[in-house]
Amino acid sequence: MVLAMVRDVIIVGAGIAGLTAALYTSRQKMSTLVISADLGGQLLIAPEIQNYPGFLSISGFDLIKKIEEQAKTYGTEIIFDQVTGIEKRDNHFIIKTISGSYEALSVILAFGKTPREMGVPGEQEFKGRGVSYCVICDAPLYRGKKVALVSWGHHGAENAALLKDYADKVYWIFPSDKPAIEEDILAEALSKGNVELLPRTVPRIVKGDKKVTNFVVKNKDTGELKELEVDGVFVEIGYITKTEFLRGFINLNDEGEIIIDDLCRTNQEGIFAAGDVTNMPYKQAIIAAGQGSIAALSAYNYVMRLKGKKHIVKADWKHIKGIKKEKSDKGLFLKI
Ligand SMILES: Cc1cc2nc3c(=O)[nH]c(=O)nc-3n(C[C@H](O)[C@H](O)[C@H](O)COP(=O)(O)OP(=O)(O)OC[C@H]3O[C@@H](n4cnc5c(N)ncnc54)[C@H](O)[C@@H]3O)c2cc1C
Repeated sequence: MVLAMVRDVIIVGAGIAGLTAALYTSRQKMSTLVISADLGGQLLIAPEIQNYPGFLSISGFDLIKKIEEQAKTYGTEIIFDQVTGIEKRDNHFIIKTISGSYEALSVILAFGKTPREMGVPGEQEFKGRGVSYCVICDAPLYRGKKVALVSWGHHGAENAALLKDYADKVYWIFPSDKPAIEEDILAEALSKGNVELLPRTVPRIVKGDKKVTNFVVKNKDTGELKELEVDGVFVEIGYITKTEFLRGFINLNDEGEIIIDDLCRTNQEGIFAAGDVTNMPYKQAIIAAGQGSIAALSAYNYVMRLKGKKHIVKADWKHIKGIKKEKSDKGLFLKI
């Protein structure tokens, strides 16, 4: 089924990047459709966020609901579906989904990154209830508690070094003989004496009731099972981008991330990207939101040019009625 309506912009993904982009595009009066597999993305499994400006503490869900409401106030439409392909036809893009296809003058790709999972029983059940995929985000929530860390290499050592300052006890699970080769960061991770190394060990089962209570791990050589009493299991074994359907059309880096420039433009004119799906190395909510706004303003300028309008935004305040610019020898001022 092809819908005849051509939107100004279609945004793929309703995480914080996509919803922020939608807030901006719909506020700029662009007809905006968000197509997403779910509402909220990774923030749905972030029980408490303490580093989003404006909130001392807020759950990922509450933050997302606020931005959704804000975007809908300006006319954003959201549908739940999975995007499977994008094609360019003249000046339009055809966005294909599992159940149909949609047309737009511009596209913002904001479909995030998915943490690689352990694939063991109990993992899905306890996501956000003790199973976390983000040490930097959630370590402060485990102050004085016992946790397990599944991670290795330089990244694993950094995570262990961070966790040791919050948790009373850290069980560090890794499949090789040594968790990381860099002696300095390893020494830092072990400096407090509360990190216990479990080499040649792999995850088996996450157990609990309302929250995680135990983590069963297995020695790779002996097959021996060990049941650790823990309040949390941190899994930091990388993130995966599911961008295969874009390969050959959108430039991706070796990690499969979408390559963007400072204005969140991809190699395809009219297609922009924002948030964790991009090659921005810092994967954080505020950064995804910031990029969402940049991608939105870039999409707005692109569509205005396409429509032959001179109305290009350089700064949002230029569109607020009643604001006048005044020049003086001290520079340019706004008169409200
Ligand atoms: C447990 C956890 C805790 C965290 N805590 C913090 C924190 O405290 N502070 C902080 O700053 N950051 C935190 N982060 C990181 C933060 O959540 C991410 O950086 C941010 O959510 C990225 O937003 P995004 O919109 O780019 O992507 P995502 O949140 O991944 O959203 C992507 C959206 O796209 C949808 N989607 C994916 N593929 C498709 C497709 N093919 N078609 C349609 N829709 C699709 C998904 O369903 C989802 O809705 C945490 C992450 C996790 C996992």
